[in-house]
Amino acid sequence: MITVIILVGVFFIVYHYRTQVEQVYQAAGRVAAPVRSALLPFPGSYRQILNNYFPYYQKLSSENRHRFEQKLLYFILSKKWIPRQFDTVTDEMKVMISACAVQLTFGLPRIYLQHFIGIVIYPDNYYSSITKRFHKGEVNPAYHLIVLSWKSFVDGYLVHPTDAINVGLHELAHALRLENLIRNDEYQFFDEELLNKFDAYAYRICHEADPELLFFRPYACTNEHEFFSVAVENFFERPQEFKTALPPLYEVLTKLLNQDPLLLTAENN
Ligand SMILES: [Zn+2]
Repeated sequence: MITVIILVGVFFIVYHYRTQVEQVYQAAGRVAAPVRSALLPFPGSYRQILNNYFPYYQKLSSENRHRFEQKLLYFILSKKWIPRQFDTVTDEMKVMISACAVQLTFGLPRIYLQHFIGIVIYPDNYYSSITKRFHKGEVNPAYHLIVLSWKSFVDGYLVHPTDAINVGLHELAHALRLENLIRNDEYQFFDEELLNKFDAYAYRICHEADPELLFFRPYACTNEHEFFSVAVENFFERPQEFKTALPPLYEVLTKLLNQDPLLLTAENN
C-alpha cells in the first residue's frame, strides 16, 4: 500500500514538474518570437494556406509578401494558442488568424497586440454563461485573451468576404484599439489627434444622420469601440463603397492604420 502511495506521489511530482517545465519552455519560446521569426524560414505549408485562402496576401508585391510572412511568423510564435471544446489548434487556424492580425497591423510595423497573449478558439459560436448568449468572438483584456469562433471566422473570410461582416477583423480591431491604451511597449501608437478626429466623425454620423441611411450596420453606433471595429470591417471588405460614402472618415482610417486597401490591387502588377 505504501509503495502504491509513494508511486502515485512520485507520478504527480514528475507530472507537475514536467507541466511546469513545458510552460516555462513555451513562455520562453514566446519571448524569443522576434529572434525566432527573423531566423526561421517561413514554412512552405503556411505559404500554401495564404496562397489558397488569403487574398490580401496574394495582392501584395513580393517584397511586401516577405514582410507579411515575417510579421505573421512573429505573431504565431508570440501567442499561446488555446483550443476549447476540441483537441488541437491546427496550422490553418494559426496562420489564418495571424494573417488577419497582420492584415490589420501591416502599416504599423512594431505592433503585435502584445498585451493579448492567448488566442482562444472554439469550433463554433459559444455560449457565455455571463451574457446568457451565443458569441462569435470577444476580447478580454483582463485575462489577456482574444476569443474567436472558428466557424464564424471562416464565414467572415471565405463564405462572405465582401459583406463587411468579419469577426476576425472586428475582434482584432477591438484588441488594437485597447492595445493603444495599455501601457507597454506598444502604448499610444495611434496619433491622438487623428483618433479624436475619427471619433468626432463617428459621433456626427451616428447622431446627425438618419439611422436608416447609415452606411455601416446600425450596431456600429453602440459606442466608439464598436464603431471603430465595424469601420475596420468595411475598410477591408468594401473599401471602394466606404470611400465613396464617407470620404473623410475613410481617409482618417488610412492614416490611422497607415495603409489603403484600395492601393493593394495595383501593388502586384
Ligand atoms: Zn464588437
